[in-house]
Amino acid sequence: MKLNLITQKFTSLFPGDFSGNTMQRQTPDVMFCTVKPAGFSNTELIDFNEKLSQEIGLGNLENDKDFLAAQNLPENVKTYATAYAGHQFGNWAGQLGDGRAIYAGEILSNNKQTEIQWKGAGATPYSRNADGRAVLRSSIREYLMSEAMFHLGVPTTRALSLSKTGEDVIRDIQYSGNPQKEPGAVVVRTAESFLRLGHFELLSARKQNDLLKQLADYAIENFFPEVSAHNNPTKYIDWFQAVCDRTLKMIIDWYRVGFVHGVMNTDNMSVLGLTIDYGPFSMMDGYDLEFTPNTTDLPGRRYAFGKQGQISHWNLAAFANAIFPLINDQEVLEKILDDFGKQFWVKHDKMLAEKFGFDEVLKEDEKFFTEWQQLMQDLNLDYTLFFQQLEKPIVEIQTDDFKDCFYRILSQNELKKISDFIEKYQARKGKNNISETESLELMSKTNPKFILRNYLLFEAIQDAENGNYEMFFKLKKALENPYENLFPEFNQKRPSKYDNQTGSSQLSCSS
Ligand code: AMP
Ligand code: MG
Repeated sequence: MKLNLITQKFTSLFPGDFSGNTMQRQTPDVMFCTVKPAGFSNTELIDFNEKLSQEIGLGNLENDKDFLAAQNLPENVKTYATAYAGHQFGNWAGQLGDGRAIYAGEILSNNKQTEIQWKGAGATPYSRNADGRAVLRSSIREYLMSEAMFHLGVPTTRALSLSKTGEDVIRDIQYSGNPQKEPGAVVVRTAESFLRLGHFELLSARKQNDLLKQLADYAIENFFPEVSAHNNPTKYIDWFQAVCDRTLKMIIDWYRVGFVHGVMNTDNMSVLGLTIDYGPFSMMDGYDLEFTPNTTDLPGRRYAFGKQGQISHWNLAAFANAIFPLINDQEVLEKILDDFGKQFWVKHDKMLAEKFGFDEVLKEDEKFFTEWQQLMQDLNLDYTLFFQQLEKPIVEIQTDDFKDCFYRILSQNELKKISDFIEKYQARKGKNNISETESLELMSKTNPKFILRNYLLFEAIQDAENGNYEMFFKLKKALENPYENLFPEFNQKRPSKYDNQTGSSQLSCSS
């Protein structure tokens, strides 16, 4: 790998604490602290994403397994962790920061900058009494899911490698007072930038307006080509609009593929509109607007599937407050936020229309979509498989085939609701301005044939913990081609034995 190309742009521009002190503390004057990875004695590389490495300019693996496990780093790599803040579950949480992410720096290739981080390589000043480690279980989840999202066409951070650390980590998965040893792991992840809404919230809360402006300028110049950076009197307003637009695109994509993030705190939201922080996420099996995989969120279901639009709006309002000193115009910010709410439904309906194979959204579609949603919700039909049943020449769609989407036995009355819906769908499709072939093409690139269901991850993790990575690599192959049905055995509803399985249908933040 071309590790000598890794630079330290961010740390050369912003104030930092270069003491290397890992003691957990408030760092009120700086935006990052230098920190060394813990060092592991018996690491094992499980997988390396060579294609991504080539793409970002790091090249092939050669003899750099050590780097991937944060070991024996070259001189030019000066590692650090950044400070950010955030609203967690709706409450201001103050300083948070990279508690177990350590940056290696950035690499520039073909005019594109990519930041490189290890997740799980040791404690930082921001670890808040935790160990800065990650377990194999959560690392496999992040490694595979972030790549699955990429291949589905959803904006996301990426995963470059997965290594075992050779060290055990203690975790209490269900927070039940039953801690267990688990194998530790490190993921190297990359993104154009890992800047979060929380980075800006922190500077704003500290009233460091000059730094806030400097960070906004840095973001705009480096990551927002759509915002004109020079001599633009509305630069920060345009930027806020761009952050909203990108967030909206990401959320609509989440709805398109059925992704539930699980912890949409503002510290877990990327300012670039990337899906970031893969924790207790889940792809949705049976359609349920109230579904959240996160056991910590179960009482309020703040981050449930159906609330993700609303919550992203809430998060952007918190971000608007944070960057207010750069704009000083409440009306204009409120207007952009209002628009976000309206645009959400426009884009959402457009996305649904594409899932159904409609070339445009008609006035009557609002009623059609509402009825569809009610049907899905009442019958808890499998979201992904449902659309696959529709993706056929209309005369071939059969009510009987939908049984593959059921998570319970349906009554005659409920079955009738499905056949009534199919009739309405067939009638609506007749109003298309595109041919049936074109409509099916539209559906086939909108509706995934493979989604990385939690139970599949659960099975891959169980095997990997026993040293068997066959399922891991098979899933990797499947997720690289999500619009093809390469592995029909994975294109099935969740087996009932996983209905209430911890680690499959129920996940905690313990990772
Ligand atoms: P999360 O909600 O998982 O994104 O984490 C919230 C905060 O806790 C972030 O600042 C994380 O860096 C930190 N954190 C979570 N898990 C750990 C861990 N095992 N070690 C250190 N910090 C952690
Ligand atoms: Mg986080």
